[in-house]
Amino acid sequence: MPDGTIRAITGHTELLGLIAYPIRHSMSPRMHNLALAELDLDYAYLAFEVDTDQLADAVTGLRALRVRGWNVSMPNKMAILPLLDDLSPAARMVGAVNTVVNDDGHLTGHVTDGIGYMTALREAGIDPAGRRITMIGAGGAGTAIAIQAALDGVERIDIFNRRDAVWPVAEHTVQTIAEQTSATAVLHDLDDIEDFRACVAASSVLANATNVGMGTLKDLSPLPDPEVLRPDLFVSDVVYSPARTLFLAQAEAAGCRTMNGLGMMLHQGAAAFELWTGTPMPLNQIRAELF
Ligand code: NAD
Repeated sequence: MPDGTIRAITGHTELLGLIAYPIRHSMSPRMHNLALAELDLDYAYLAFEVDTDQLADAVTGLRALRVRGWNVSMPNKMAILPLLDDLSPAARMVGAVNTVVNDDGHLTGHVTDGIGYMTALREAGIDPAGRRITMIGAGGAGTAIAIQAALDGVERIDIFNRRDAVWPVAEHTVQTIAEQTSATAVLHDLDDIEDFRACVAASSVLANATNVGMGTLKDLSPLPDPEVLRPDLFVSDVVYSPARTLFLAQAEAAGCRTMNGLGMMLHQGAAAFELWTGTPMPLNQIRAELF
């Protein structure tokens, strides 16, 4: 299919989209429209700048228009919960939604960020089931990853966070994992270096789920002690812009295999695409066009 074109829009074309603020920078419209074009599916995907003060009106309109489904990004991921009819088990546990499916006016919220991360990890040849993961960061991305890791059979997740506004969120995540999965999750203060060393030494994966390494923090690494890096440790970052954060550069220098956030991005989108259309996203074509 030609690069970036969408099929002719007719009276049958259905709408998909994304509601967030700000959103104009998003890769999702290009990714989904490419996939739809590749499969000749009669949908179009558009980005809508919707802030929380217009969220309820937007959801009422999307429901009334029978829009098949949409992604939800900040600041709406938690605010949308009371506006939906149902939640997937993972969305209920995470307390956030990034994908809504509209079945004839019945709205179900899903969260595919954690699925995206775990799929990317397995694609990189790492199956962490029955093993340990150490994560830095327990905000939106970290919560989704920790809960999906627990649902996917990871034995233990050690979460390190600063004692900032996210700390109580992390406490709640650890409690949810204990109550609703067979995994163990333990929250640690990121300042506790000895604890960090011990957890990484017992883990096969070290994951950055903070925004340290991008934007104004792009020259920083979240790693409290680079000495923990060893060649058989797999190191991942949720950040994909820049593609190689300082954290991943430190890991590469120590001989670790690494993965940036692009795979997570791709696979969270692929999971949403399949929920809406019932068809797997053509991943190879999307990779060839976008990454
Ligand atoms: P958030 O604001 O909910 O959480 C931020 C986290 O970073 C918190 O744990 C916070 O304590 C920690 N943090 C912030 N500054 C820090 C510092 N200086 N030192 C140590 N920790 C610090 O954000 P979020 O929604 O979880 O997003 C985090 C990152 O994940 C962003 O870079 C976002 O772009 C990325 N993300 C990527 C994907 C993907 O598909 N690859 C999906 C979602 C989010």
